[in-house]
Amino acid sequence: MAKTTSWEIVMGLEVHVELATKTKIFCSCTTEFGGDPNTHCCPICTGMPGVLPSLNRQVVNYATRAGLALNCEITRYNKFDRKNYFYPDLPKAYQISQLYLPICRNGGVEIEAEGGGKKIIGIHEIHMEEDAGKLVHDPWTDSTMVDYNRCGVPLIEIVSEPDFRSANEVIRYLEKLKAILQFIGVSDCKMQEGSLRADINLSVRPVGSDKFGTRTEMKNMNSFKAIARAINGESKRQIEVLEEGGTVKQETRRWDDNKDASFAMRSKEDAQDYKYFPEPDLIPIEISEEVIKQTRNSLPELPEAKRQRYVSELGLSEYDAAQITTSKYLVALFEENLAAGYPAKELANWIMGEVMRMLSDSGKEPEEMGFDYRYLGALIGMVQKNEITRNTAKKVFKAVFEEGCDPVKYVEEHNLKTVTDTGAVKKAIEEVVAANQKSVDEYKSGKEKALQYLIGQSMRALRGKADPQTVTAILKELLG
Ligand SMILES: [Zn+2]
Repeated sequence: MAKTTSWEIVMGLEVHVELATKTKIFCSCTTEFGGDPNTHCCPICTGMPGVLPSLNRQVVNYATRAGLALNCEITRYNKFDRKNYFYPDLPKAYQISQLYLPICRNGGVEIEAEGGGKKIIGIHEIHMEEDAGKLVHDPWTDSTMVDYNRCGVPLIEIVSEPDFRSANEVIRYLEKLKAILQFIGVSDCKMQEGSLRADINLSVRPVGSDKFGTRTEMKNMNSFKAIARAINGESKRQIEVLEEGGTVKQETRRWDDNKDASFAMRSKEDAQDYKYFPEPDLIPIEISEEVIKQTRNSLPELPEAKRQRYVSELGLSEYDAAQITTSKYLVALFEENLAAGYPAKELANWIMGEVMRMLSDSGKEPEEMGFDYRYLGALIGMVQKNEITRNTAKKVFKAVFEEGCDPVKYVEEHNLKTVTDTGAVKKAIEEVVAANQKSVDEYKSGKEKALQYLIGQSMRALRGKADPQTVTAILKELLG
């Protein structure tokens, strides 16, 4: 029998995050997403000769904030370095980045490990740098156009240790990173707009080996689903190469999500290929202990602390607390209504139920929920006061979620209030009983199913607006 090897996947991540500053890192151009090509530009960010960069202080503040929230040490004495490469997306032919003295080092994020339990993903460093422009390939004219609007948008690059062993671990880490960065307000982390994108360094090795295999890199991945598919596809490819006796080449590969395969782009560069040297146009930055202390004190409650508090103080389940704290926006929905006096468990049930369902059905992210968060409380309030049934509330929530309707007005306009006039309810049920003699006889001869049918008919006659328990009670009374 052929000897079969079990393989282990080893991955490290480089995550680029666009910072939420109003202006670019070295000039005063707007960082706003979109805009007509090359309208958010000036001589500095388009690299005209003779211009000088001036550092945006807010970039240093945000990078420090991110570092502290990710448990890093902050480098007090910081410098920028010049990374030289010639490619049209960067008109200067170099990128201002940090190589020798990155602003943050030695951090970590705790995630659920693949085999259960917790594990820390180490953060090797975080450095500040400028984003490049965007190349747009036009298949019609077979030409490439360049848009420099994104050129000079501030980035932090978060470099992890090679601590990941599965696609799930990568996704959990990215979800956590996204939540933390959103909570502390340093980035909107809109993956669909590219403000959070990940490069995945992946290698495989026989289980039990402590040597790393040769890695490949897949760049600029910006959807969780594509990332999971890319990891599975690329690890499979490497294992096949090795099992056939070949060797994996160190290279950058492009994941094509439509073809479900990765393709070689170029051999992977090492730091020496970029001929880094200290950036001569910028002076070093010193960050004082005082500023670090102030920044630490200004951090809000982080998702992990919230999760624990939701369980210990508010009595939510571990699972619900973990899910809600994945997003700043779900937390806002929860906490705003909690502050208005609605019960924590009821709110959690709604968020875990209807809100999650609507998000998943519509393919939206929590930050895209366009309704007034107070409407969820208003809806729960109407159920509590027996003004509408739970089923009606679910239907109304659909309109709230999809169209941003005010639920109180919606219920009024669509005449959805529960019929509380027991006389009217009784009359409707009497009519149903009179019209369904056969079912009445069946029930009387002991068929429980017939009762369900009569309840259904009664609810229908009342257009779903009666309390089902009241209907059942009245029916049973009528049928003796
Ligand atoms: Zn500019």
